Amino acid sequence: MRYFVAFTDVDPPYVNTDPACAVMISPTCISPFFRFTWGRPAEVLIDSGAYHHNRRRRALSQEEAVEQQMRILGALPEASRVGVMHCDVLPRQGISPAQALEATLVNAEKFLSYPLPGKVERVAVAHGDNPEEMYAVIRYLRELGYSRIAVGGLSRLNFQHRPKLLRLLEAAGEAGQDAELHALGLSGATLLPLMSQCGFASCDSAAPALFAVHGSLIYSHPFRRYRLDNALLNRADARQRTSLYEPLASPLPCPCPVCSTDPELLSTPGVEGTWYRSIHNYLHLKAQVEGRQVWERPYSLDGSRYGLSS
Ligand SMILES: [Zn+2]
Repeated sequence: MRYFVAFTDVDPPYVNTDPACAVMISPTCISPFFRFTWGRPAEVLIDSGAYHHNRRRRALSQEEAVEQQMRILGALPEASRVGVMHCDVLPRQGISPAQALEATLVNAEKFLSYPLPGKVERVAVAHGDNPEEMYAVIRYLRELGYSRIAVGGLSRLNFQHRPKLLRLLEAAGEAGQDAELHALGLSGATLLPLMSQCGFASCDSAAPALFAVHGSLIYSHPFRRYRLDNALLNRADARQRTSLYEPLASPLPCPCPVCSTDPELLSTPGVEGTWYRSIHNYLHLKAQVEGRQVWERPYSLDGSRYGLSS
């Protein structure tokens, strides 16, 4: 499976460390004034921002979504492959689940006739509240002609409704056998084998940066999560949703470009340290998702390119 790292405008430019980087961008996570000072990413997925708009109880039209997505596309260095997602509609106050689903499918149909630059691939977003619905939605999107489908609404089930999540993944896999499936916001190590078995081609998450902010570190093969035992990094209010975070006195041996420069960089406080931990976490999570054992070149860490002291 391919790993897309979610990028917000406070994250390090992962692509400057990893030219094979695949990035997921949401228009709601990037300031309109943000300048991409990046190298060329290998792949980019741009979502509609519907999820964040919905959380703010604001409707987003398909037209508005495409306009914002094209603005980001215009500002980005040209990637080898670009996918733009259709504007799905989520249930909220005044919009029932059935109405949201219908509006999502209407938008998917509309999106097919939007003029997009030639190389840009259209990606439909599927939701389903139960396995039967998920199956039917994906089959419908396939009939409309979509060959790339991103499956949403799964990550919120990860902690409380694991059995339901597994059934939805299986239903999506069964319906989307002849399509390229992407799991939105899902990169949990215990789910990876099932996602891969169900035929998912890729997934994304913001985990590298989310973990980094709280001083947490990911290591791959085997997958492990630790929290650096460092008063400067640990916050009393930091979320700790599982018991899998073991305290760690000092970083473990690691061949990533941060640790091979100086493992103590991971303990740096402030934004600089968050960026170093994000890069370390990104490379480990990607290695875990993509089934790579180790990474070597072309990964590199050039502090000056991050605007950091080296
Ligand atoms: Zn490292």
